[in-house]
Amino acid sequence: MWDIDTSPPAPGEPLEVAPGVHLVLAPNANAWTFEGTNTWILTRAGDAIVVDPGPDDPAHLDVIDAVVKSARARVREVVLTHHHGDHSQAARPLAARWKAPINPRVQRGIVAEGTRFDVGTLEARSMRTPGHTSDGISLVLPTERLVLTGDTVIARVNSYIGHPDGTLSDMLGSMQRLAQVADDDWTFLPGHGPVVREPRRYVADRTSDRMRRVEQVAAHAHRGWSSAEIARNLHPRLDERRLRAAQASIEAILHYLDVHTPERT
Ligand SMILES: [Zn+2]
Repeated sequence: MWDIDTSPPAPGEPLEVAPGVHLVLAPNANAWTFEGTNTWILTRAGDAIVVDPGPDDPAHLDVIDAVVKSARARVREVVLTHHHGDHSQAARPLAARWKAPINPRVQRGIVAEGTRFDVGTLEARSMRTPGHTSDGISLVLPTERLVLTGDTVIARVNSYIGHPDGTLSDMLGSMQRLAQVADDDWTFLPGHGPVVREPRRYVADRTSDRMRRVEQVAAHAHRGWSSAEIARNLHPRLDERRLRAAQASIEAILHYLDVHTPERT
């Protein structure tokens, strides 16, 4: 297992984290993807689905193929947790290799709530978890006590809210739903970084952290500061590009404050 205190697997070296649940780390590490995108492959009884095939990199696609073939399986479906390119660019090339459909079928399409993706006896169903983006989903594997959370809940940090597509209200609702579906003996398998243990406690901690940030932003907004000024004040050491991302997250908070505290002056 790739835990918070262990080193990541090398791209090209698949890791079976539970029977039939494989992680392949994509070779696209950068400031936005942390160690890279996590591609998850579910295999059982000759059946396979690939969740978030990642960047369009032939070497990465070859590793995915090798995992599927070593399980004597075929890719039946390619599933995307959300539309971001670091998760979705390889969807078409991988689907073409296996003549498999992609779900959702169109860019920024939405996988319907409760869609079943059973792989052999491995039971998986989709849950809508918008917030990072508006089209976000997670995959719940109740028999394995696992949830593939995409970029909704990741270890170590609050995940990015891509306002205006993503909203803080959506994110908080999705975090709550994810905490409700799991127990602390479950494990979350995120779209980036190590796995999340004790997910209920973790989500509660992350929620309080986000609410503390809401209070900070509210205090600054009262002084009439712009989102750019608030971002620079809260993140004095960030470079220009990351500052723009921080600014988008602050705009998500300002939007949340507008929606939830209409009485403020
Ligand atoms: Zn993303």
